[in-house]
Amino acid sequence: MTRSSETSSAAMTWDLSDLFAGPDDPRITADLEQATKEAEAFANRFRGTIDVPGGPTVGHLRSVLQAFEELIERVERVDAYAHLIFTADTTKPAHRDLRQQVHLKTTAIQNLLVFFELEWQQVGDADAERLMTSADLSPYHYYLKRERQNRPHTLSEPEEKIITDLRVTGASAWQTLFTELISGLKFPIEHDGETKSLTLAGLQALIRDPDRSIRQRAHESQYVVLRQHDHVLAYVYNTLVQDKHTLDRLRHFPNAMASRHLSNDVDPAVIDTMLNAVEAHAGLAQQYFQLKAQLLGLPKLAIFDQYAPIGKEASTCDYATAQRYILDSFGAFDPRFSDMANRFFEGRWIDAEVRPGKTGGAYCMSISPRHHPYILCNYTDNLRDVMTVAHELGHGLHGLLGQKQTLLEYGSSLALAETASVFGEMLVFERLVEAEQDPAAKIALIGGKLEDIFATVFRQTILTRFEQFAFARQEKERLTPEGLGDDWIAANRRYYGDTVEMDENYRWGWSYIPHFINSPFYCYAYSFGELLVLSLYRMYQEQGEKFVPGYVELLERGGSGSPAELLSAIGVDISEPEFWAKAFVEIERLIDKMRVLVQETAA
Ligand SMILES: [Zn+2]
Repeated sequence: MTRSSETSSAAMTWDLSDLFAGPDDPRITADLEQATKEAEAFANRFRGTIDVPGGPTVGHLRSVLQAFEELIERVERVDAYAHLIFTADTTKPAHRDLRQQVHLKTTAIQNLLVFFELEWQQVGDADAERLMTSADLSPYHYYLKRERQNRPHTLSEPEEKIITDLRVTGASAWQTLFTELISGLKFPIEHDGETKSLTLAGLQALIRDPDRSIRQRAHESQYVVLRQHDHVLAYVYNTLVQDKHTLDRLRHFPNAMASRHLSNDVDPAVIDTMLNAVEAHAGLAQQYFQLKAQLLGLPKLAIFDQYAPIGKEASTCDYATAQRYILDSFGAFDPRFSDMANRFFEGRWIDAEVRPGKTGGAYCMSISPRHHPYILCNYTDNLRDVMTVAHELGHGLHGLLGQKQTLLEYGSSLALAETASVFGEMLVFERLVEAEQDPAAKIALIGGKLEDIFATVFRQTILTRFEQFAFARQEKERLTPEGLGDDWIAANRRYYGDTVEMDENYRWGWSYIPHFINSPFYCYAYSFGELLVLSLYRMYQEQGEKFVPGYVELLERGGSGSPAELLSAIGVDISEPEFWAKAFVEIERLIDKMRVLVQETAA
């Protein structure tokens, strides 16, 4: 296979020999066989020993948990390896075969182990409390607590079975219909003198086109086609909202957001505070939209101008320079950060090369507290890629620092999963802006960062508000395209005010968003994660090196507590509006920087 010699990341590949020698390493099969045997032995030995009158003893539960963890680690090591080599080269049949073989085996093993978590849920509350508060089980406290969180909302076994069976022809069927309908749509657009037919994703990429008429045509095509299906789309959404109302009632959830709050382990009041803080600061976004209109020479932005490119594309950055920028920025925060990041580069834990057959995008995989994390990315010498490497290294450092935890409390919960990564990006972003000499390129950099922040903070808050409106409306009436359009515009108005023109088409902006269909009220977690990092970053700006030890401790605690618990350990109270307000000081700082640059370049 030819290597791409065009970018500076050529030959920057990882070394997976820490795990296995290759897809045909006999230790892979041996490990899977051993894990299967151990899982059978585990089930034979421990089934029926957890859900016993009075609950198990502390010593017994601890030894079961340790055996459970060892088994999972053995399986995950193989599973991770299969995933790593497959994504590094998806074209090799041996990689695909291994992935399939591992998948079959791990599913069988998981089925042998599932009794443990079910039995633990059955233990009475008083006995569970005694076990969870014992010092000997403290490394598992949060895991044990989380495994029981759905107990008050779980119905009897036959009831649960009926719900699961009927879901196939109920909610799941509507979700599949939605996915198939949207992914099958073709959007016609005139481009370079010919009419092309694009998918929704292909069409939406044109929203970043420098040519305004192309952006406008893409916007119109999107909604002309979606509107043709609006009654089906509204019907599907109405059915799913109603289905959720019914299930929530049966499961004794007080409202439509409660199950999501429970799975995120956050206090509903905290999320209210956060959403209100976002809306209270919409004026900042509106200032940016006015600035952007000025840059584009428009009296006012239309909704399709929101992501139009501004400024000038920044210069390129080779991989060695990226490494230097990252190590410098991390090192300025804490020398340990640059040491750990340096190990990733020098120890070949990163696969950065661009080559055929490799999967796109980037990820960091932290397998267990006993393994060094691995990073995959596709480094193509532009500044976005520098930020991507910084992002994944943030995850990687989180993975290293969290190694003090047990495997069952190693990974962070959703709300904190992106903290270290986005924080790492922030550290490097500042350095990149400083290093860039051309003010127009600085504008593009800061504008890009602000638009990413807005898409995460403001837009995801709007999506959440829209869902709240729609769920409230559904309790009174059937959801129709008209009603949903009203709710959509009302939610968006809180963000855009009158600084962005929302045309008639935009009333159908709700109709294609998969999160509404597949994971209701999921979106606020994106706002939460981004704001959290901005607020923490602001604290770092205010406190300097005094901030560092608490932040390191936060990462060291991995997934061993709820977001509120872990953050309170570093003196952060997420129930306070003042904490969330810090994030907007940081956003304002970026907008001010941008304003100065716009004035400079206009002069
Ligand atoms: Zn990430």
